[in-house]
Amino acid sequence: MGVPQELNEAVGWYDAPEADYAVIGDPVAHSLSPRMHVAAYRELGLDLRYLAVRVRAGSVGKALEHLRGLGYKGANVTLPHKEEAIGWLETCDDFARRVRAVNTIRLEDRYGFNTDAPGFLQTLDLLNLSSNTPALVLGAGGAARAVVAALADEGHPMRVWSRTRERAERMLEEIEVDAFVLDAPELTEAGLIVNATSATLAGEPLPISWEHVMPGAVAYDLAYGVRGRFLLDAEAHGLRTVDGLGMLVMQGALSFEWWLDQAAPHQAMWEAVR
Ligand code: NAP
Repeated sequence: MGVPQELNEAVGWYDAPEADYAVIGDPVAHSLSPRMHVAAYRELGLDLRYLAVRVRAGSVGKALEHLRGLGYKGANVTLPHKEEAIGWLETCDDFARRVRAVNTIRLEDRYGFNTDAPGFLQTLDLLNLSSNTPALVLGAGGAARAVVAALADEGHPMRVWSRTRERAERMLEEIEVDAFVLDAPELTEAGLIVNATSATLAGEPLPISWEHVMPGAVAYDLAYGVRGRFLLDAEAHGLRTVDGLGMLVMQGALSFEWWLDQAAPHQAMWEAVR
């Protein structure tokens, strides 16, 4: 099988052609990472290829081993594999180990890194929120783990809601964050509301009532590419809204720099996805 014509057309891992870097996930065809990384390679004249590779849950280790055998140098990891991927690694950075979520892997030495958290924090800098702004994070998956730990480390008072309450409790215990677990996504007192669920991508509604939201609060959806119910409702209630595109570029640029040890062309990457 040859290289897909569409850069973000996904191939199954067992059918993957030779390339240099990949994003693995399921679903993964929506990912803008191939477009963004290929734009960076073009900008810098690098002869490298980056593909979207579909990997089912339970096959992450086998898939990474296979890609490594094909000569791939690195992989980004997207939903729902950020926790499963840790199991294949030889080692990872302290933050990834703590949050048990990795999104950037160097295949040669099976080393993993988390660029979601620093990428997310770089986008927060642009919002001028003070570090004592109370934050509410929705979800308890891989992205939520990184975002909750990053926000708590910055000093934000934290609340968390997950439709599976036990998953939120386990997350907080494992990442060693002291936060209040809500039974419902109550927006009262939250100056920053982060949707770290995959509900937007699935086109599913969240059980949020927006009536008691704080004026001037920020609604931040980590999803990108679709402006879903969460941001549309937030906008209708006068909140400032942010989607996941900025974070995508920031975490992608950090992955690029870690793999290639050279400055990422942020502007070219941003223009490729916006
Ligand atoms: P994940 O590990 O699969 O976790 C998904 C989370 O969403 C789980 O807590 C799950 O709850 C919850 N969920 C799914 N559907 C839901 C619904 N209908 N109602 C309520 N909760 C629901 O996924 P992930 O890797 O954390 O990714 C989550 C989102 O962040 C995705 O939209 C992804 O694209 C985005 N993201 C963006 C960036 C970026 O750079 N912008 C980076 C990372 C992630 P259960 O446990 O109950 O199933």
